Amino acid sequence: MTKFYGSIEAGGTKFVCAIGDENFKIIERVSFPTETPEETMPNVIAFFQQHQTDLAAIGVGSFGPIDIHKDSKTYGYITSTPKLPWQHYDFIGELKKHFSVPMTWTTDVNAAVYGEYVAGSGKGLNSAVYYTIGTGVGGGAIQEGRLIEGFSHPEMGHMQVKHHPEDDFAGACPFHGDCLEGMAAGPAIEKRLGKKGQDLAADDPYWEIEAYYLAQCVYNTTLLLRPEVIILGGGVMKQQQMMKNVRQAFTKLVNDYVEVPALEQYIVFPALEDNAATVGCFAMAKEAALHN
Ligand code: ADP
Ligand code: ZN
Repeated sequence: MTKFYGSIEAGGTKFVCAIGDENFKIIERVSFPTETPEETMPNVIAFFQQHQTDLAAIGVGSFGPIDIHKDSKTYGYITSTPKLPWQHYDFIGELKKHFSVPMTWTTDVNAAVYGEYVAGSGKGLNSAVYYTIGTGVGGGAIQEGRLIEGFSHPEMGHMQVKHHPEDDFAGACPFHGDCLEGMAAGPAIEKRLGKKGQDLAADDPYWEIEAYYLAQCVYNTTLLLRPEVIILGGGVMKQQQMMKNVRQAFTKLVNDYVEVPALEQYIVFPALEDNAATVGCFAMAKEAALHN
């Protein structure tokens, strides 16, 4: 019997549900806005019910923070998210009411780094880090083929950064003000300039400031983890012209202190583009099915 895997990418603005085959090829994919659990989850359940007979496992990558501790009473919950209707929501518990297949549970960015690691820019490597620069900034990291998780999952998007000398924006993170997310995520750009990132010209001088924050992110990540590749994705990275400024500013920050791979292979876009998390969820679902 052909096996199919389910993927749920639960993002802050939209949910993407998909069915994939053994090779992680997407067979069917739907997307809907993230509303309340009462509105959104019935759509998720209805989608997978159509494919229930062939479904071997479901992988979930969710916005967070989430509880990833298998022995915790609240494993499978979204925890202290600022999205109030989803606070302390038993995501996996709800799915288990409807499906009896194995399920995996991780953050959306962990799913994305895993997807890139198995089938994208990290394929064939032992280590990779993925950042999304979108509505928020989130990061996931792989070392020796495993997601880095300790007391809980990383929250690398909230690292501290230095202000660009020409940037006096106070920051938009509700918790930290001028952390990386507070300075460089989409809403920070909009709050600072009164315009969304997609409405700024490609040659707007702001992009050099944005690149300076992303270069610090890559610099910190390099020194902390020395990964083989750092992948930058998410809506704000649609400004592809920024990549050269990020690489240049990073080179200046490192100042030859450590050796890094050739920058064109080191600081890159996601090879799977917007499907990184979906592929990562398929891959985790497949492993859960194999070990079940
Ligand atoms: P999410 O983070 O919710 O999953 P995205 O990764 O698409 O979604 O990020 C959305 C953010 O990216 C918004 O703040 C939006 O303004 C910004 N964005 C989307 N497209 C572009 C673009 N072409 N250039 C710059 N910013 C963009
Ligand atoms: Zn923050």
